[in-house]
Amino acid sequence: MCGIVGYVGGGSVYNVLINGLKRLEYRGYDSAGMALVSPGGDLHVYKAKGKVSNLEDFCADKNLEAVAGIAHTRWATHGEPSDSNAHPHYSEDGELALVHNGTIENYQLLKDALAQHGCKFHTETDTEVLVQLIEYIRTTNECELVDAVREALNQVVGAYAMAVVEKGNPDTIIAARKSSPLVVGIGDDETFLGSDGTPFIEYTNKVVYVDDDQIAVIKRGEPLKLINLKGSEEKVNVKKLELSITQLEKGGYPHFMLKEIFEQPNTLTDSIRGRIVEGGRRIILNGVMDHKDKFLNANRIIIVACGTSWHASLLGKQLLQDMCGIPVEVEYASEFRYSNPVITPRDIVIAVSQSGETADTLAAIQIAKSKGAFVYGVSNVVGASIPRETHSGTYIHVGPEIGVASTKAFTGQVLVFTMMALAIAQIKGSMEQKDIEAVAGCLLRIPDLVKETLRLNDDIQRLSLIYTYARNFLYLGRGYSYPVALEGALKLKEISYIHAEGYPAAEMKHGPIALIDSEMPTVIIAPKDHLYEKIVSNVQQVKSRGGSIIAIVTKGDTTIRELANHVLEVPDVPECLTPLITSIPLQLLSYYIAINKGKNVDMPRNLAKSVTVE
Ligand code: GLU
Repeated sequence: MCGIVGYVGGGSVYNVLINGLKRLEYRGYDSAGMALVSPGGDLHVYKAKGKVSNLEDFCADKNLEAVAGIAHTRWATHGEPSDSNAHPHYSEDGELALVHNGTIENYQLLKDALAQHGCKFHTETDTEVLVQLIEYIRTTNECELVDAVREALNQVVGAYAMAVVEKGNPDTIIAARKSSPLVVGIGDDETFLGSDGTPFIEYTNKVVYVDDDQIAVIKRGEPLKLINLKGSEEKVNVKKLELSITQLEKGGYPHFMLKEIFEQPNTLTDSIRGRIVEGGRRIILNGVMDHKDKFLNANRIIIVACGTSWHASLLGKQLLQDMCGIPVEVEYASEFRYSNPVITPRDIVIAVSQSGETADTLAAIQIAKSKGAFVYGVSNVVGASIPRETHSGTYIHVGPEIGVASTKAFTGQVLVFTMMALAIAQIKGSMEQKDIEAVAGCLLRIPDLVKETLRLNDDIQRLSLIYTYARNFLYLGRGYSYPVALEGALKLKEISYIHAEGYPAAEMKHGPIALIDSEMPTVIIAPKDHLYEKIVSNVQQVKSRGGSIIAIVTKGDTTIRELANHVLEVPDVPECLTPLITSIPLQLLSYYIAINKGKNVDMPRNLAKSVTVE
């Protein structure tokens, strides 16, 4: 969840680390710290609770001379966010400093054992156990740091990306990964380390993705070395980093979230490019085409995901069932992994995650693979663990998403599911060609229709002022609009901290209707679709209980306009494409409500972008 940065080289170590941390801050941001190794081999650790800017202030009068260093932004799992729990953590003798992303599951066992050998602990973190263990092994076995790391990692159960530096060894970083991302950037006589490539994008585009159970030995003046946990050397594959610096900037918007909402016409165009061809007559999704037989013979599709990706997956289910006639189940990855799932080799498991690093989803993939299923990944970050661990897949290609609350990645995932369903329908013949062309043709117009929908921005900003101080919200939808309601409610919760529930509109009468009064606004997603008449009754039920209603409707709607307090009109599109349009006003509504409340929309409290812990 956190961000790791490292650097060895002749440039300003402090600047590389602090700027790198700022780039990674969206991943976790309750505290930050760095360890610097000076040219003479001294080790200095600086850390501060809160944002990276606090660390920057703290470092203002410190000795920053260094030739190597490691840094970290934390998303606490063990021990509250505090100065002392912030990383890096020292070993007891002050010889080593270590940063870590993830969790050490057997930390208590290791801690008890180390305590018996006289080791004292100064923090509540699981991470401190790791650094103490490495140091204990290094001194007991009188071995090199890399061997001590390897030995320690053989004893550790859990997930980690870690980096460690050593006093008296000014030009070396030892780093390793299991289940949490780690990338090495290769420069000219300088080497970088990052949780992703963003910290060093302006210095190099040559990257090496460290694999699970690999240790990277980064030494100035020597080529990068990768070894496995048995100690044998492994091949170093240098890849090209596909990322540009402008993609990481706010481009004139006050927040990344707003920028990312407004980017959607472009990101959807990027995602469609080369995939819907001949004006909508053909859908080319290589991940599907290359494994045609799997899709033709599939008994069932199981989609595993978490959070927003889970909502996109619910839409994926409807799209795949409607267009391809394949039964589809959607599971929370965190539940699936412990549910003893019944999977056969004729099942396809689709794993969905923006970051491609979600720990629960990765674990679900391992289970599916072990049972012989064909596993397909849908993610955004090129080269992340999910695309590497799956048999095939599709990138959503929406560019880096920095705002913690997902917006453009959600629509990108829904778009990919739509194209996937069309591509499978085409090879299966489960849909008539003219119907495929009608949907695909309209998909080509979706970026423009999203642009048109974004013109609601000012109306929504005004509307948000009325509802900023509501304490609870209900979001209702049916059919394709039900997952949109769930996603709308999640967006509001995440960034404004207002309690919001999404419900299938007809389920309201089985409970939530008891909550409706003039204090609780209900957002109803009611585009013209085959359930429209049904949802009109649900709107009436809310209205007759004094609830205020904000309705998202198709342009020209008159029936709901008469019942609702506010309507937001969106362009008319085929039913299966409505989520790509109706989700836009909900993103804007949650954004403006959170802004009115003075919340930090890009870094909401307690959340992190890339959930690499269980
Ligand atoms: N488990 C560690 C801690 O709580 C690392 C958390 C992280 O990934 O930031 O300090």
